[in-house]
Amino acid sequence: DGQQMGWHFDNSYLNLPNGLYTLVKPTPVTAPDLVLFNETLAATLGLNAAALNTPEGAAIFSGNQLPSGTASLAQAYAGHQFGHFVLLGDGRAVLLGEHMTPIGKRFDIQLKGSGTTPYSRRGDGRAALGPMLREYLISEAMNALGIPTSRSLAVVTTGEPVLRETQLEGAVLTRVAASHIRVGTFQYAAARLSQEDLRSLADYTIQRHYPEISSSDEPYLCLLQSVIHQQASLVAQWMLAGFIHGVMNTDNMAISGETIDYGPCAFMDTYHPGTVFSSIDHGGRYAYGNQPSIAGWNLARFAETLLPLLHLKKETAITTAQGALEKYASVYQQHWLRGMRSKLGLFNEEDQDESLITRLLSLVETHKEDYTNTFVALTHDKTTETSLSTQPGFSDWLAAWQARRKRQPYLINDSQALMHQSNPAVIPRNHHVEQVLEAAVHHHDFQGFHRFLEALSQPYAHTSSQQTYADPPPPSFKRYRTFCGT
Ligand code: AMP
Ligand code: MG
Ligand code: MG
Repeated sequence: DGQQMGWHFDNSYLNLPNGLYTLVKPTPVTAPDLVLFNETLAATLGLNAAALNTPEGAAIFSGNQLPSGTASLAQAYAGHQFGHFVLLGDGRAVLLGEHMTPIGKRFDIQLKGSGTTPYSRRGDGRAALGPMLREYLISEAMNALGIPTSRSLAVVTTGEPVLRETQLEGAVLTRVAASHIRVGTFQYAAARLSQEDLRSLADYTIQRHYPEISSSDEPYLCLLQSVIHQQASLVAQWMLAGFIHGVMNTDNMAISGETIDYGPCAFMDTYHPGTVFSSIDHGGRYAYGNQPSIAGWNLARFAETLLPLLHLKKETAITTAQGALEKYASVYQQHWLRGMRSKLGLFNEEDQDESLITRLLSLVETHKEDYTNTFVALTHDKTTETSLSTQPGFSDWLAAWQARRKRQPYLINDSQALMHQSNPAVIPRNHHVEQVLEAAVHHHDFQGFHRFLEALSQPYAHTSSQQTYADPPPPSFKRYRTFCGT
């Protein structure tokens, strides 16, 4: 039973106002089969991996069997989708509950693709195997890169087809997250519930994610400031890694500061701020280079929901919120600069660092160089082997960087070690992602998937085996497109 599998559910979300969720059970599936199971994550959570990597585990991860102590609910939320306000909610996911680890950490255990809920609108509540495997691979890669993210514990196939443009194999993904409270959860409470309910949500969120501010005189201002800092840090890490979330709607921004909702996300190969992969992002709203400012826009929507809690007088509340929001850009810039300095092996700070960095990025952009591999070449002092070395302006930049590197009281070896741990040798490049998914989805051949996952689990190990995945995409991937909601 649940106990021997290691589950310890404690469902604090049930104490929140009723309007924030609906109790709903997963819809059973015909023939659950566990195709992926994350033993490492299971161990971290204090779960019994051996007991779960079984047909009994498949029954749980498909939603056919509910371990004792689960609550099973769909969360209500709203969101600005491409700028337009919509009422949403978990339309194809249920929260089984909050699992407490042996060291007392609380994690949401959520099934995605588990059937319809009252929030499904016209959707079927289901998910296809390909996108669930994709989320598993990329979220685990993000975690290994050190970027805060929801994790993936398991994927089961359901034995039932899902109907999209074609018939696809159905699957359920088990997600693990600090929580699924979103900017959109606050938007829902602000738009549809009482001020008392909104305050309950804010108090709950503070207790769960920012307990250190609960005794503050101004807890709601501190909450806003904390979320601003977390998002500034998160988006800086995305930018440094070349990650494009793809659908930064306010319902896909977690208050915990974790990356959530892996739909149309992808990593950039050739550096260009305008890079967009999502097939539905026609205007490039969520392009790589727009991510910092979009996060700022989303944070302003979050601040709006808190206005009634910030001050009785609306004018004062607005001034307070604006004061907090004004800090976002410089906090973001500090995180980004710190990360870029590390990528270039710089420990100390000089005023000219930002221009040194932007000069490099503009060379990389002009000459359509690979973002990740440029930093790898710099790390290994191998730029002479790249096309960048023949570009006008590059040798001047290289000399300036080398001189800058020497103007710090550190050995070149230390600088190089810093670059090793700051520049990934392997990222989930689109053409490799597609290649391993193709074999897994169409032939249930997971060998390539597991090999790639293994390499992605050690992105900063600059070994020769990682080189297998370092090649830039073939020309056929120049027009790579991603999709959400499949
Ligand atoms: P997303 O694009 O993943 O952020 O999803 C936006 C909204 O659409 C969320 O409320 C989802 O729960 C809902 N949704 C996406 N796919 C489906 C589906 N197949 N069935 C029901 N709801 C869905
Ligand atoms: Mg979403
Ligand atoms: Mg999604």
